[in-house]
Order: sequence, then C-alpha cells, then structure tokens
Amino acid sequence: MSKPVQNELGFRESVELMFNRAASFMDISDKLIEKIRICNATYIVRFGVKLRGDVHTFTGYRSVHSEHKEPVKGGIRYSLGVNQDEVEALAALMTYKCALVDVPFGGSKGGLCINPNDWTEEELERITRRFTFELARRDLIHPSLNVPAPDMGTGEREMAWMVDEYRRLNTGDMDSIACVTGKPVHLGGILGRIEATGRGVQYALQEFFRHKDDVKAAKLRGDLKGKKIVVQGLGNVGYHAALFLSTEDKAKIITVIERGGVVRNGDGIDIQALKDHMNSGAPLEEFDGGEISQDADALTDKCDILIPAALESVINVQNAHSIKAKLIIEAANGPVTAKADKILRDRGIMIIPDMFANAGGVTVSYFEWVKNINQIRFGRLQRRYEEGRNSALIDALEKQGMTFSRGFKSEYLDGADELDLVRAGLDDTMRLAYRSIRDTLRDKPELEDLRTAAFYTAINDIALHYRSIGL
Ligand code: NAD
Repeated sequence: MSKPVQNELGFRESVELMFNRAASFMDISDKLIEKIRICNATYIVRFGVKLRGDVHTFTGYRSVHSEHKEPVKGGIRYSLGVNQDEVEALAALMTYKCALVDVPFGGSKGGLCINPNDWTEEELERITRRFTFELARRDLIHPSLNVPAPDMGTGEREMAWMVDEYRRLNTGDMDSIACVTGKPVHLGGILGRIEATGRGVQYALQEFFRHKDDVKAAKLRGDLKGKKIVVQGLGNVGYHAALFLSTEDKAKIITVIERGGVVRNGDGIDIQALKDHMNSGAPLEEFDGGEISQDADALTDKCDILIPAALESVINVQNAHSIKAKLIIEAANGPVTAKADKILRDRGIMIIPDMFANAGGVTVSYFEWVKNINQIRFGRLQRRYEEGRNSALIDALEKQGMTFSRGFKSEYLDGADELDLVRAGLDDTMRLAYRSIRDTLRDKPELEDLRTAAFYTAINDIALHYRSIGL
C-alpha cells in the first residue's frame, strides 16, 4: 500500500480533474457531462470465510461506472490498498478506455481488500469462490451484464475459480463461460491474453515512434532500438512490456523498480533472468545481473522512457519536478496524478496516457468474450480449419461494430493461428486508437496533450451514444 502524499488529490479526484479539463473544451451541456462523469453504483460486500479454525471477514467492491454499453467490463484487483475511491476511479478509466479503443463495453472495476501472499492457494480459492458467489447473486458477474478480468494480484488462476463457481450457480446458461475473461486457454480463454496488456504497451510505443513529429516533440530521435527505459513493477504488465521491448525492439531496460528493491544495469537488464529469479522466491539482493539498491527515488533515474507499471499516484507533486525521462508511458492505471500531470506538461515531458497505453488487456478480453458468446470452439484445430475459425472470429467482431484496417483481413484470414490473429488484431486496435487521438489533437490543438485528446475522444463517443437515445 502506498503512503498518502501531502498536498495530493485522491485517485478519483485526479481522474475527474483530467476528465474536466477535456470536458471544458467540449460543446456538451454540463448536465450530460455530469452524467458521463459520475459513477453509477458501487456495491460493497463484507463476507466471512472460515479459515484456520476461525471466521475471517473480507471486504470486496464492484463499481459500475457506466452502463451505456453492456456488458460492463473491468478487472478485479487483490490488494490491501483497495478502497471505494480506487475502484471508482478505475471503473471510470475503464469506461473511457473502452470508448477510446472502440470496444463496446461499459466501465466497471472490482477489488478485494486482501494481501494474496498472506493466504495459501487453497485458502485463496475458498475466498475467491465466496467473493464470486456474492457478486454473482447480484449480477455483478454475468456474461451479458458484468464481465470481470484479471488486474493487480489476480490472474488466470483466479479467473478459473471464478468461472467454475459461476457455472456451478448457473448450470443451464450456454454463455456462462463468458462471465469472466483472462481465463486459461483450456477453460475458454484466448491465446495472447496473458501478455496482452504488456504487448499493447509495446505496440503503443512502436506506433508512437512511427510519428516523427511526436518523437521530436518528446525530444527523442530514431526508433526504440537502444532507448534507455526504466520500468516500475515487473508483474504481468511490466514484465511483458519490458521483455518484448528488450528482446524484440532492442531497447535497454536500465532500471527495474520492484517491491524488494531496485535493479540497475546500464548495459540492459536480462528481463527473463530477473523474472525467473523473482519467481524462484530468492531475495532480490541475490540477483547477479545488475546493481541492487533500496533507494526510493529510482523513478527519477535519467532515461529516455519511463514505464510505471505497478500502481497509481506514484508520480505526484513530490517527485514530478525531478523526473528526468523524456517520455512516460502509463502502463499502470493512474500512475501520474493530475497535479503531477500539469507539472510534467509544463516541463515538456510527454505522456502516453493509461487509457490508451494499457488498453491491450481489455481489447484481447473483448476478443475472448466474443469468441465465447459465439460458441467458437477451442483447442488447436487442423490448419485448414484455422482459416474458417479466424474468419468466424473476425466476422463476429465486425458484427459487434469493431473495425479493422484495410489489408488486415486478407493478411490474417489465410492460415494464421489464433495467437497471430490476436496479436495482429491488438496491433491494429492500438494503431487506430493512437491515430484517433492524434487526429483529435490535430483538429483541436488547444487540447495540447495526448491525455486531454484521449479524454476528449472518449467523452465525445459516449456523448454521441447518449444523444442518439435522446439524452
Ligand atoms: P501484478 O500484480 O501482476 O504486478 C504488479 C507488480 O508491481 C508486482 O510485481 C508488484 O510486486 C509490483 N509492485 C507493487 N507495488 C510496488 C511498488 N510500490 N514499487 C514497485 N513495484 C511494486 O499487476 P498487473 O496486472 O501487472 O497490473 C499492474 C498495473 O497495470 C495496475 O495499475 C493495473 O490496474 C494495470 N493494468 C493491468 C492490466 C492487466 O491485464 N493485468 C490491464 C490494464 C491495466
């Protein structure tokens, strides 16, 4: 849990301030803006589970920010820092993210106030199943109403328990497999979902470097090759982003900041070796692939690109003046507070905002959900059947209103396997979303920055929806 920073705003307030900044440039009535901004509902549940001979009470949340499209979508987080303010801020970001990347979901988010490391796997399973029951009985897990996914502290394992519990409660429901995404592949998941958010961060950066004006505006040159990168958090998102950027784009990860300390190596850290070391349970100090320290200021290390991929509000009024990166890409949700955002903007540091940068997860979750509700069968089929299967998935996505760029279909219908298709669909989505943010900024230069343009684009899309139903 991060300590509160003096003179800082809460996470939700921060998101609302950024939203208001974009809304102030729009010709939309204040009342409609308020409708779009507010969180529709937050359910707080307290439930007891008998563990270790005693009853333990847990507090969980599920916020539904906007149901303008259904199902609503958003991860479930396991962390001691979970609170109402946090889930509401995260649910709001989900609404804007889905609108921005053209995924037809409303925004939701959930969390359980728990440190997963305090419990054994068996205990966590019992807690997760009970939490699932509490949410499902109120339709807060439901294939056509509310579809959770993994977030900080949860992954495929928790999603497997959730889907299994949901199916026990809803035996006759053909779509029950679609009640959560981020499931293991053999349980209805889709290839490429685990890596999706980190992969999306990589694609977002690749797209950024295709636009020479943007690269120049960030005082950078060339492409990703050799760029010095600092990453905070080597969990699902940070690890995949760092791995792909270092092994495929030949960027240098010079600093990794984790809970147990900081690893630095000016020649580039071997990310897979570091992750294997962390997974082995050995202390970080014993990692021999870099210099290890315990300093608290590594976010201010000199670098080209800073990737906060752990938690919110880590770049705030206390350290924003000292950040030396030229470009920040927000892999985590809300890592830069609204006050820090202003400081960084004034200092000319460019930010690729969370609502775009980490949208890879929800994009591939969408592919998984469409595959599930269309009853597209799983498992590797013979290559000659792949074409038909990919075509079914693309057709289903298009029927839902998703658009792909020209050339995409002809390239990926011909015998590509599911992972190729998912990666290509994600790449396409990230490119189109970045271009729509740029187009907004080109048409409205007064918006000034990518975040405000992203909010503007998303709010506009949601407003169009409400207008079309007469609001
Ligand atoms: P995770 O639990 O897999 O990883 C988080 C990592 O951050 C862990 O390795 C943890 O040790 C580290 N960490 C926690 N506190 C830290 C601190 N104070 N300093 C340094 N490291 C710290 O979580 P994740 O799924 O990778 O999520 C990370 C962020 O990305 C969150 O903001 C989440 O909301 C966002 N996100 C995740 C997904 C997804 O698909 N998992 C999608 C979109 C956004």
